[in-house]
Amino acid sequence: MDNIFPSPHPLVAHKLSLLRNVKTEPKRFRELTREIAALLTYEATLDIPTINVTVTTPLADAPGLTVEDKIGLVPILRAGLGMVEGVWELIPNAEVWHIGLYRDERTLKPVEYYNKLPIEPTVSMCLVLDPMLATGGSAVATVGILKRWGVRKIKFVGIIGAPEGIKNLHTHYPEVPIHLAAIDERLNDHGYILPGLGDAGDRQFGTG
Ligand code: URA
Repeated sequence: MDNIFPSPHPLVAHKLSLLRNVKTEPKRFRELTREIAALLTYEATLDIPTINVTVTTPLADAPGLTVEDKIGLVPILRAGLGMVEGVWELIPNAEVWHIGLYRDERTLKPVEYYNKLPIEPTVSMCLVLDPMLATGGSAVATVGILKRWGVRKIKFVGIIGAPEGIKNLHTHYPEVPIHLAAIDERLNDHGYILPGLGDAGDRQFGTG
């Protein structure tokens, strides 16, 4: 599968090992989630288009670049929320759009319960944020909503991906690059990633 980018960076691997540790408390877990999100964003934005500009320094004019795309962040609730601050550290003017989905227990399909996207897209590129790409159901539904909204450039930024979720997202949207800190072994019978890190929402918000 192409378009799948597990991070090659040792700092990401180091921080991920701390994040996985069952002894890591929520405060530190939130800090690490932010830091990893920032490092992965740095990797995911390597190819974004830029425009040439001229900057006036105190001494002379200098050639410079400015990022062309207006970027939107779409955290998948609730665990994706913890990644937003980390991305904002690098892209402070990114808009954040919330889409609420829950899984219907009967059909097992994602159902939309919150969506205030305006009719016309206000951004030209979206980063979909979710620490855990498990079954991929929410990621597939979110990318579908953003495509119907009219966003042409979409990237997924997560922390741990299961092969099942990566395959699901990639099969539906092969053009969406998937950036991750690590690819784990598999899902367990409850839809948790193994070895994973447990419930990323509970571990951030102290609700486990
Ligand atoms: N969501 C989580 O928070 N953890 C998993 O392992 C899978 C989905």
